[in-house]
Amino acid sequence: MAELTGRVALVTGGGKGIGRAIALSLAEAGADVAICGRSRPDLDETAAAIRARGRRGEPILCDVTDRSQVDAMFERTRSALGEPLVLVNNAGIAASARLAQTTDEMWDLIIRINASAAFWCMKAVVPAMLEAKWGRIVNIASIAARAGAPYITAYAASKHALLGLTRSVAAEVAARGITVNAICPGYVDTEMTNRSAAYISARTGRTEDAARKILQDVSPQGRLMTVEEVAALATYLCSEAARGITGQGIVLDGGSVQA
Ligand code: NDP
Repeated sequence: MAELTGRVALVTGGGKGIGRAIALSLAEAGADVAICGRSRPDLDETAAAIRARGRRGEPILCDVTDRSQVDAMFERTRSALGEPLVLVNNAGIAASARLAQTTDEMWDLIIRINASAAFWCMKAVVPAMLEAKWGRIVNIASIAARAGAPYITAYAASKHALLGLTRSVAAEVAARGITVNAICPGYVDTEMTNRSAAYISARTGRTEDAARKILQDVSPQGRLMTVEEVAALATYLCSEAARGITGQGIVLDGGSVQA
């Protein structure tokens, strides 16, 4: 029997990119998986890929900035699949701007998606995890949760908040069979990184390939991380073998952040 057989997982932003890879990896580990996002075609395609792996996949349209939609997403997950005792807070956005150009609207939106939505989702799942005496929460943070950098004030603040949330909830539930961890990737080969390369190219006149090379070279390995690497770590954190790991912000970036 696969490790997560009989478990229900919910992956926010599970229709594409890192979230999609995590959803498929959890399904391969035996879980039934609900995925949410705002793009119906992405969700349907990923749910079909989950089902192709022999598990139940539930696509749920949900904008995580809307608290009532988040509540409805949990209702739907429970009625379709059962109680989610695995939660992956992955939905997120990034934006690049100098502090002076970071608008209040940009700040509010980034904090709301990257931090507040994860807070709401964790509040929704922890009571059932406490009752079950088992649970796994994996928050997809960033190296921007571990170190600041120019032009990402709102993003770094949101990811530092997510890591603080991770550490504090982990401490609160450590004795109850629940682990709460964050993964802190460097640049990963997804649409988000493609957008960052396009932005650098537009701002500096470099080609997109040259802009991409700048992002690759943030890592001492001179490459982008892959979604499969992030997914493998997330699934490991959900395993019994990882039950002693909690409250951590695990860096996956080829070695640029070492402390
Ligand atoms: P993508 O832009 O490829 O995907 C983002 C995902 O988040 C999509 O599934 C999107 O779904 C979902 N999402 C965004 N906004 C909302 C919203 N308001 N409501 C619901 N879902 C939403 O990004 P990645 O896969 O690269 O990033 C995933 C996570 O990993 C993010 O939290 C990001 O900050 C983090 N990360 C990414 C890195 C990278 O280099 N790519 C590096 C470090 C961390 P939809 O569009 O359907 O709403």
